[in-house]
Amino acid sequence: MDVEKKVAETIKKYKLLKKSDKVVVALSGGKDSTSVLYILKKLGYDVYGLMIDLYLGKWSDVHRENMTRFCGENEIPLVVVDLKKEIGQGICFVKAVLAKKKGLTGCTVCGIVKKWILNRWARKMGADVIVTGHNLDDEAQNVLMNYLKGNVLLGAGMGPATGNGSGEGFVQRVKPLFFVPEAEVLKYSRERKFDILYDRCPCAFGTYRVDTREWMVENMSDEDKLKDVEGLMDSVKGVGVDVRDVLKCEVCGEVSRGKICKACEIFGCI
Ligand code: AMP
Ligand code: ZN
Repeated sequence: MDVEKKVAETIKKYKLLKKSDKVVVALSGGKDSTSVLYILKKLGYDVYGLMIDLYLGKWSDVHRENMTRFCGENEIPLVVVDLKKEIGQGICFVKAVLAKKKGLTGCTVCGIVKKWILNRWARKMGADVIVTGHNLDDEAQNVLMNYLKGNVLLGAGMGPATGNGSGEGFVQRVKPLFFVPEAEVLKYSRERKFDILYDRCPCAFGTYRVDTREWMVENMSDEDKLKDVEGLMDSVKGVGVDVRDVLKCEVCGEVSRGKICKACEIFGCI
């Protein structure tokens, strides 16, 4: 697969980005976000890196150093957000203590906290759009996990552009690698010899998503994944989409679906 061509096609078909946009790419330091940043820069977009230092020991240190070097070499401005300065804690405390209190998995709360910080900081940076590195495998895993949970409608509204871009204070999130299988991103990144870590998050073990990913590797081809994702997008188009107004959280002022946002519910539970 020509990954760069696929990204350009997806951007065009789903109108994800404009050349005049200030595009903030959420960088984990892994192959997906690094590749998408590199491709968007090559395609001529006005890109900026935004990375959250999660305080996962040496793993975070190396990712941060790698992204600082990568952005420097490619003349891309980078903002690193210090999680401890933002919320007073590293991600381990959030995952181990707060997630348990809320009865959620570590990966779910980490995702909520990351989204909350990314929206806040992208807005501070004056971003028109946030890009994430989610790929086809991530999306196919979501379809399967929602199915196994007995609610495919959890995937309603899924697509290369997520969320409701109309709410004040909300920065639209987009996924240019939506139709690119993980194996293709890996190949792309290795071919270009990006000097990054290829390990998975050291905290993500024994979770539903990890089990689903392992099952998928053995049982589904890239064509199957695409069929699943496109099939679901087609069949639930407009069904069950969250049409509630986007509100402002009474605690932190961030965009929220309820009076108190999901992140503040987690921070406030102790
Ligand atoms: P993950 O939730 O780790 O699968 O990551 C999904 C996407 O979220 C990545 O491709 C990045 O775009 C973004 N992301 C993950 N971790 C970070 C981080 N520490 N800082 C900024 N963005 C991140
Ligand atoms: Zn809040």
